[in-house]
Amino acid sequence: MILRMSHLFVRTLRDDPNDAEVPSHRLLVRAGYIRRAAPGIYSWLPLGLRVFRKVENIIRDEMDAMGAQELQFPALLPREPYEATGRWTEYGDGIFRLKDRKGADYLLGPTHEEMFTLTVKDLYSSYKDLPVWLYQIQTKYRDEARPRAGLMRGREFTMKDSYSFDTSDEGLDASYAAHRAAYIKTFDRFGFDYVIVKATSGAMGGSKSEEFLARLDVGEDTFVQCSTCDYAANVEAVAVPAPAAVPYDDAPPAHAEQTPATPTIDTLVAHLNERFPRQDRPWAAGDTLKNVLVMLKHPDGTREPLAIGVPGDREVDQKRLEGQLEPIEVEPMDETEFRKHPALVKGYIGPGMLGEESDSKIRYVVDPRISEGTRWVTGADTDGQHVIDLVAGRDFTPDGTIEAAEVRDGDACPQCATEGRGGVLETARGIEMGHIFQLGRKYAEALDLKVLDENGKLVTVTMGSYGIGVSRAVPVIAEGNHDEAGLIWPREVAPADVHLVATGKDPDIYAAAERIAADLSKAGVDVIFDDRPTKVSPGVKFKDAELIGVPTIVVVGRGLADDGTIEVKDRRSGERENIPLGEIVKHLTDLVKG
Ligand code: ATP
Ligand code: MG
Repeated sequence: MILRMSHLFVRTLRDDPNDAEVPSHRLLVRAGYIRRAAPGIYSWLPLGLRVFRKVENIIRDEMDAMGAQELQFPALLPREPYEATGRWTEYGDGIFRLKDRKGADYLLGPTHEEMFTLTVKDLYSSYKDLPVWLYQIQTKYRDEARPRAGLMRGREFTMKDSYSFDTSDEGLDASYAAHRAAYIKTFDRFGFDYVIVKATSGAMGGSKSEEFLARLDVGEDTFVQCSTCDYAANVEAVAVPAPAAVPYDDAPPAHAEQTPATPTIDTLVAHLNERFPRQDRPWAAGDTLKNVLVMLKHPDGTREPLAIGVPGDREVDQKRLEGQLEPIEVEPMDETEFRKHPALVKGYIGPGMLGEESDSKIRYVVDPRISEGTRWVTGADTDGQHVIDLVAGRDFTPDGTIEAAEVRDGDACPQCATEGRGGVLETARGIEMGHIFQLGRKYAEALDLKVLDENGKLVTVTMGSYGIGVSRAVPVIAEGNHDEAGLIWPREVAPADVHLVATGKDPDIYAAAERIAADLSKAGVDVIFDDRPTKVSPGVKFKDAELIGVPTIVVVGRGLADDGTIEVKDRRSGERENIPLGEIVKHLTDLVKG
């Protein structure tokens, strides 16, 4: 196949687009791969579509190889199945809704659990039909609050989603393992650095759950890895090892003290050290208990307050908090709401006024570190006063615990902690490329998917859910494979195998280049052929070749007249070789097919 630059539907741009925050987005637009149609909605131009199709086919290849079967559901879906699972409401502002001419409700599918479940229910009725693994590669629609970084977080995007259907938990484990193995093969072929981390299953419920994250500083996810063992997790899934209860028989009684003008943790700690110094060591921020008030916004629009207690040296991490509460969203508590709770004194809120049993009636949940017997300095619910020696479990009992405190470099590794080692966590950034998890029976129950087992008894089917961001893979690969001059595609996903440039004025050069292009094409090598006439300077042609990022750049130019050679340049290393004209086609074919 030959793509001629003289005809190719592409305009490379010298300037970065204004809205591009990350290199992959800048380069994909500048090199003529994609164009923005609306916020978070993009068109694929010919070069982009070629990369997209290669990515798609790698995924399809590995899914077919594992024995999954491809099908395709509509993107335009009726309301009823989503009503049955509660997601019509749960999705809130997150989906695109529309009405037909008769006024019936529809949505553009954000994900298709309902359709998969109902279709299997429609057609299958016996354990003998299972397990079955089904997948589709399809356009999804989500009205993301913050579409970002071009294709990385779109409002229209392509996802590969598969589902496994089994009758037993062991069956589900096997289906999960098969998908995990196929994902490893798929991601190994993509040419980006990735890590498999423990994840929460979010809105979907379910048990075993892992994410495949591409390691990228521009990613929106934070994950942790242990310095010592193989533990790796999305921060949202990190469970702080709950400390054992400490005895408090000899703890002094709690006492309120004057701490004027100490509305922040720093001012409080300074004041404590000055006026109430400890014998053993100075007071630190981690000795204080900070109570944060937020509003929970339920999918049906109702709101309720929540109080969260964390050690004063840590912030509440919004993503971790929302990860625990999904599909509920979390907002800060505003002044109007705050004034509805006169028992609360800003800057001096203590557990005394929090909890379902307290005056405020606000539900109060705390970080697991605030465990039975631990002693705290916290607000006394009076302006300018704090309580010292307030013991958890003796002086206050929260309504529950929550994993919402930020996770930091150097925190104890939860796996090491249970196994008696001292590993610590390191944090890094990434972006979710795939998610596999055991959905369990949630959807089968909601939609009544049952089959007859060996004994003729009806059993509810158990499901696994497995996604890959197909369109997201394109910018993610680009993000890890570029330099100042442009893109540098890994061979498996490049829009062509070779970028052939003819330079100079000599018609013989163009004729030779034509022959090389034709021979390569015949040998099954895909060529971008810069056959543009001599008024396009060699400099422009080289710049375009570097920007477009095909892994091998071949220059037919002066070398041909000088000593009968063709220059072959590796786009990634910049290394050049001169190959005699007679050997060039074989040389390139071996390089590409090798
Ligand atoms: P994220 O945390 O990035 O929003 P998600 O948990 O919502 O992802 P899933 O519902 O599990 O994602 O979807 C499966 C895959 O689809 C994800 O692993 C991701 O690669 C991709 N994906 C999800 N949302 C988008 C989006 N808005 N744009 C592009 N790809 C997406
Ligand atoms: Mg999402």
